[in-house]
Amino acid sequence: MVNKIRTMLSESKDLALENPRKSYDLAVKAYELAERYGLEIEKGMACFKMAYACRVMSDYSNGLDYALKALDIFKENNHIDGIIKVRNIIGIIYFYFGDYSTALENFSQALEDLEYHENMNLKASILNNIGEIYREAGQYDRAIEYFEDALDISIEFDLRNNISSIYLNLGEVFGLDNRNEESMECIKKSYAIAKTSRSVIIQGEAETKLGKAMCNRGDYQKAQDYYFSALTKYNKVNNKFYLVELLINMAELDETMGTSPVNNLREALNNALEMGLESKVSSVYKLLAEYYERNHEYKHALEYFKSYHLKEKELEATNLAKKLEIISIEFDYFREKSENDKFKALSEKLKREVDESAVELERIKAQNANLVKETLIDELTKLYNRRGIRSMFSKVLGEICDETCAIFIIDIDFFKKYNDSWGHIQGDVCLKKISNCLKNLPYENYFAGRFGGEEFLLYIKVESFEEAVEKGEYVRQAVEALKLSYSKEEDSSHVTVSLGGKTGIVDMNNVNRIIDEADRELYLAKEQGRNRLSISMIEKNNIRYI
Ligand code: GH3
Ligand code: MG
Ligand code: MG
Repeated sequence: MVNKIRTMLSESKDLALENPRKSYDLAVKAYELAERYGLEIEKGMACFKMAYACRVMSDYSNGLDYALKALDIFKENNHIDGIIKVRNIIGIIYFYFGDYSTALENFSQALEDLEYHENMNLKASILNNIGEIYREAGQYDRAIEYFEDALDISIEFDLRNNISSIYLNLGEVFGLDNRNEESMECIKKSYAIAKTSRSVIIQGEAETKLGKAMCNRGDYQKAQDYYFSALTKYNKVNNKFYLVELLINMAELDETMGTSPVNNLREALNNALEMGLESKVSSVYKLLAEYYERNHEYKHALEYFKSYHLKEKELEATNLAKKLEIISIEFDYFREKSENDKFKALSEKLKREVDESAVELERIKAQNANLVKETLIDELTKLYNRRGIRSMFSKVLGEICDETCAIFIIDIDFFKKYNDSWGHIQGDVCLKKISNCLKNLPYENYFAGRFGGEEFLLYIKVESFEEAVEKGEYVRQAVEALKLSYSKEEDSSHVTVSLGGKTGIVDMNNVNRIIDEADRELYLAKEQGRNRLSISMIEKNNIRYI
């Protein structure tokens, strides 16, 4: 049984980088078996593999949870190798959260334990990780020292995968330090070694970096060759994580060569969204915004800048949320051991931190909700603006939809006249009153938006043509019943609206066309004398009400 479990665990390890989901599932099965047969060390190893797979899937909170569990098991059984491995991964998780001091603490502890327990592979990996902390902290010299130590060990023991990933890190940090020649050299070495291994990901990463270097040098053809080669590799293993960086580089090359980078940036965006790589999503929004700005397409630029800004805010909140999750996991972990005074004190401290962070998180969440509102709601009327209307349509309509509805475009009649006699400020008040009326219609499934100056859009779910006519008519009469006089004269008539409507099946593919057609109906209603509804059925799809 032990052998069977070990085989499962080693398979799980091999799969972790390529197929973390499968790797995780295997580790769970191994854990269950180990539990059934009372095999403690194997249980710990299974937990460790689960943590590792979670890390690859960037599910850091669960990763930490499993790692801590593994740490307990290894400590109880005095399994030094396990303890060191787990500390390494705990350090890595803290690193991802930007808590470099805790990460460093764990790596250092692991290094210390290694003094009495030789494992060169692990030692090289930990030194490499410490180097990454110094790199992130901007201390390039220290980073290089650690990378070089890690490299020496890896070369001595011929740890090929380590060697190529350390060279890649060295290449990066030299590049950051503007030591371009050395950077290039390291990346080339990394690539040469990776090519002889089966590590497709490192090969792709090296090619991405080589391509970028070629691009900076102005050798665009070579850059393109490297990028395509990396692209083929990532596609082969279906890795979308590294693909995003590559697509961003490819977009940069596109623009340098005078073609549009939009396709590559959009693909990068889709992948980043799909993978939940929030900080990448944010950088792609920014790149798109800047591209459109450079090309004087300010409308698009503005939209992407807003998305970028919104995403940055969101990131701030989720980072905090993740930190909070970590703190509460630690909190639970230490609470279990609350007999110990030291842990008790620590729990108190952690509890305070959880409470403080929770307040901060609530504040950011509220701020975010406001920001979302601001971008979707029209300031004056508090109805949805065009962006809000679009967002509502994507909520209520699918790609293919088989439910019927009515869409109305509503325009105030002779509104210029109202403004002329009452003034613009009073005109705004009139707009608000009509908007309130549209906001409070006695219907369940509908929404209203401000389409432009004194024009509105109304979406209502209906079952039949007759129902659409009845509801449109109701709106027309409801506005008239507000009795908003056009002028100061006593016998002045009251403000009315004209409605153009279309009814039938609408989905995301045809909604823009249907709105145009409703607008044409509105024109007819105006032509026929105003204060009326002109409506017809959506024809092209041969829609028939059941
Ligand atoms: P019609 O029946 O043909 O629609 O006549 P109209 O006067 O309503 O149409 P027109 O398009 O000639 O004029 C629309 C007016 O709506 C002109 C503009 O000043 C006014 N308007 C647009 N937006 C606002 C706003 O936010 N506040 C105010 N007070 N007036 C606005
Ligand atoms: Mg108008
Ligand atoms: Mg008008």
